[in-house]
Amino acid sequence: MKFVEPEVYLIAETRIDFDQLQKMLASLGQSTARTWLAKTKATSKSDGELLTEVAGRTCYKSFGIGLNPNVTKIRQSSEEYIQNTLAKGDGSIFEHATCTFAFLNVSRVLTHELVRHRPGVAISQESLRYVRPSGFNLWLPPELRDKKSNFQSIMGDIENQYHNLEKSYDWNKMNFDLKKRITSAIRRILPEGMATTIIWSANHRAIRHVITMRTAESAEAEIRSVFDKVARIMKDKFPLIYEDFQYTQLDDETRSWRPNYVKV
Ligand SMILES: Cc1cc2nc3c(=O)[nH]c(=O)nc-3n(C[C@H](O)[C@H](O)[C@H](O)COP(=O)(O)OP(=O)(O)OC[C@H]3O[C@@H](n4cnc5c(N)ncnc54)[C@H](O)[C@@H]3O)c2cc1C
Repeated sequence: MKFVEPEVYLIAETRIDFDQLQKMLASLGQSTARTWLAKTKATSKSDGELLTEVAGRTCYKSFGIGLNPNVTKIRQSSEEYIQNTLAKGDGSIFEHATCTFAFLNVSRVLTHELVRHRPGVAISQESLRYVRPSGFNLWLPPELRDKKSNFQSIMGDIENQYHNLEKSYDWNKMNFDLKKRITSAIRRILPEGMATTIIWSANHRAIRHVITMRTAESAEAEIRSVFDKVARIMKDKFPLIYEDFQYTQLDDETRSWRPNYVKV
């Protein structure tokens, strides 16, 4: 068995087709909307934030004065606009842009917790029906650091027992369907802490919620450390959407993140 650390990769995020967006804004709001786009694009840090603002401003045609006779002033900067939307709790505009994360070396303890979050997410998890593990990889929780050798020896025993059971089958004589059935049957002795991989896509409204829930001081240590990493990436890449998140440093070196605007 081998000790591993959870890994977090932001592998994809929403991109804008600027050619199409320009045409759409020209149709909707002529030069006023095009001017707004040129100005906003120059200062925007991400397509995700820009798309969020386009979606929001489309609602009231608030790309500039004159497009909607009911609008006599607009929030000029993206900072003001996004901050006001968060404060009002108009969360639906934060559903348009998404991010896709790969979480590697995370346990089934973590994935069980993660899949409880339902709206605005997509999930693809390594199948332990199909994938027969060759080595046992595990993350050592901080609470077990002083018991590392006990933990190692227990997990080593389980690994040996698993491989003994595995060796009692003649895998070369099985078709793929039978391999899958036996792999699935014997996975019942695998530990819940076994490292696995999950791809998790979510829109920003959902990411804000999951960061808040899963970095709470009372959250489980592993998911808290993973969503602390997610929060740091989000703060860096999408500073406007996550502007209201503040952290408290915890003893285990993770951060607990809280937004000013909980209902978004
Ligand atoms: C510290 C901690 C301890 C926990 N302990 C336990 C435990 O002991 N046992 C246990 O079973 N779970 C536990 N959970 C899981 C928790 O109860 C939730 O199921 C999980 O966090 C998903 O969050 P959510 O309910 O906000 O739903 P999400 O799926 O993340 O949904 C986000 C929001 O959408 C809305 N929403 C979603 N679905 C519906 C719906 N069907 N109807 C109406 N509104 C909806 C709600 O406003 C919800 O808050 C724990 C979670 C944490 C963070």
